[in-house]
Amino acid sequence: MVHIVGAGPGDPELLTVKGRRYLAEADVVIYAGSLVNPDLLAVCRPQAQRYDSAGLTLNEVLAIMERAEAAGQMTVRLHTGDPAVYGAIQEQMDALRAKGIAYDVVPGVSSCFAAAASLRQELTLPGVTQTVIITRGAGRTAVPERESLRALAAHGATMCIFLSVSFLAAVVAELEAGGYAADAPIAVVQRASWPDEKQVRGTLSDIVAKVQAAGIDRQAMIIVSPCLGADYELSRLYAPEFSHMFRRGQA
Ligand code: SAH
Repeated sequence: MVHIVGAGPGDPELLTVKGRRYLAEADVVIYAGSLVNPDLLAVCRPQAQRYDSAGLTLNEVLAIMERAEAAGQMTVRLHTGDPAVYGAIQEQMDALRAKGIAYDVVPGVSSCFAAAASLRQELTLPGVTQTVIITRGAGRTAVPERESLRALAAHGATMCIFLSVSFLAAVVAELEAGGYAADAPIAVVQRASWPDEKQVRGTLSDIVAKVQAAGIDRQAMIIVSPCLGADYELSRLYAPEFSHMFRRGQA
């Protein structure tokens, strides 16, 4: 059996209870060493075999899983954040299915939510925006033209932009071209939930200089959102006159 586990954003306590149990039981652990906090592996059994996938190809990763399976062993494949976004897990799952190896997926705390937590910011505010777009700028992996940052920016929704801080100036230019004003608020959080986390808040016009001054050029979440510093309406969920399944409204 292979368990694909979301490691969370970095803080070892932001791993799910189920993910931790699988890690503690694993015979083989394959982790993405570039982003996964090695402290997570502290719960592993001393005899567990550990592999950093940073230097491995897809076929090498699959070969390790196959060998473990043949030996009746359990493998944990640890991916940063939640494995469903930018995790490259589909190709692993499809290959495992083709080989007849059972697998499941344990979700994790995505870095976009860890960044929002660090900023102490709700991403959906009544009367402001009710939508969060998870996206990235085009890098080595292409992004379909209809999903360009410029096209998505036109919605004025919250955008969590992954994998893009190294070309922040181009990101900002696209957001402006899509309709965001130069004074629109934006935040960048590097290594959210790690001890050396950095966060920078600004506007589209000054964020590039601020991020550069902070020395942030990788492993960062860009959040552009009208929620950052917005006036908003109070949530209907806790409004006194609003009834729902668990609470009768006051007249
Ligand atoms: N599956 C992961 C994303 C992997 S892609 C998740 O759900 O978070 C790697 C990108 O995620 C990085 O380029 C960066 O944009 C973001 N990222 C990962 N960990 C981060 C962290 N602790 N703080 C901020 N951004 C992070």
